[in-house]
Amino acid sequence: MHVVVVGGGIVGLASAHALATRDVEVTVCEQGSLGNGSTERSVGGIRSQFSTPVNVALSRASVEVWERFENEFGVDIAYRRPGYLFLAREESTAAGFEEQVAMQRGQGVESELLTPEEARERCPELHAGRYRAATYCPTDGFADPHLALQGYADACREAGVEVRTKTAVTDVRLADGAAVGVETDGGRVDADFVVNAAGPWAARVGAMAGLDLPVSPRRRQVLVTDPDPPVPESVPLTVDLDSGVYFRPEREGSALVGGHLEDSDDEQDPGAYTKSMDLDWATTAVERAAETAGYFGPDTELKRGWAGLYAVTPDHHPVVEESLPGFVNAVGFSGHGFQHAPATGRLVAELVCDGAISLVDPVPLSSDRFDRGEGVVERNVA
Ligand SMILES: Cc1cc2nc3c(=O)[nH]c(=O)nc-3n(C[C@H](O)[C@H](O)[C@H](O)COP(=O)(O)OP(=O)(O)OC[C@H]3O[C@@H](n4cnc5c(N)ncnc54)[C@H](O)[C@@H]3O)c2cc1C
Repeated sequence: MHVVVVGGGIVGLASAHALATRDVEVTVCEQGSLGNGSTERSVGGIRSQFSTPVNVALSRASVEVWERFENEFGVDIAYRRPGYLFLAREESTAAGFEEQVAMQRGQGVESELLTPEEARERCPELHAGRYRAATYCPTDGFADPHLALQGYADACREAGVEVRTKTAVTDVRLADGAAVGVETDGGRVDADFVVNAAGPWAARVGAMAGLDLPVSPRRRQVLVTDPDPPVPESVPLTVDLDSGVYFRPEREGSALVGGHLEDSDDEQDPGAYTKSMDLDWATTAVERAAETAGYFGPDTELKRGWAGLYAVTPDHHPVVEESLPGFVNAVGFSGHGFQHAPATGRLVAELVCDGAISLVDPVPLSSDRFDRGEGVVERNVA
């Protein structure tokens, strides 16, 4: 059996690797260089504190892999776990926390509900008086997306995957309603399955197969700061769900600050959006971070920043399914595709090799959930 994977980001490579470990012959076609889509622009967060059971299940299955990544893949991905701290200012946000923590704990996650004062023990400069409630999980954290991608790329090559960079897929070949391969700018590739792992380009690749996928590229920005005072490395990735800002420690006291803080959220062209950070966004981001915690005083330095794309679906869950015979979508990760890539790779391999997903409940990942009006929105979105 031969599978063509469209896209050499973390999802494409994790899928290729999972398929190869099940003795499938795999070719990855990447239009540019590996990771040049969203993956290299991610901040690498890995957490189990999601608001829906399927996202928690994807996290649980992925965290297992991230934990053993260095042993299995021989690459230190700088996986650090100071936890994630979610904060609620609004009553409506706080109201959901208790139920979420119960659901997460039911799946074996060590999350806990904290009072704002308890949260300050985790994040000592927190302006606790602004908040009503918090949740925290000590096993959440982050890793370096570039190193993780390289780990998967090396493991793919060792497992016999053919990785073709600078190879754009220009069409999906169909016969009797089934995908039978792709056309590329370097020629035709026949395959038993085509996997769409094209990140923000996913709707375009889906359209090549005649599909109308509800995946929309949205721009998200990140800023690197030298905060004053410095953010210790023990401070969790801290998310103010109501103001939209988040920050996390980097090395030696510096910090990343991010979040969707603009009023508008226009769909972007993944080939032609602004990849540099907006200065007015950066100013707002630091102001909001300063409202959250005392790390971002007046002498905080704005060092650099960038923008990337989230491939967003209406309910912030991906579509992972065989949408047409021979055509598997692994798309629409809505800002959590880096961390969920290991589980996604397994799902893709299950669809190709077993004909169905068994690792998690497949229903919330199907594309027709939107037609049925069954999409349950993920609320913990940074
Ligand atoms: C600012 C920011 C912060 C983020 N932070 C986090 C985080 O903390 N945690 C987390 O889990 N996620 C995070 N994400 C989201 C994460 O980056 C993505 O969900 C993830 O990288 C998606 O991986 P992917 O492989 O699906 O897509 P991509 O990495 O975009 O890969 C898709 C690839 O497909 C290729 N491609 C597209 N069309 C074609 C074609 N026709 N032919 C050949 N190749 C094609 C592209 O060139 C690209 O390399 C963040 C994203 C951004 C922008």
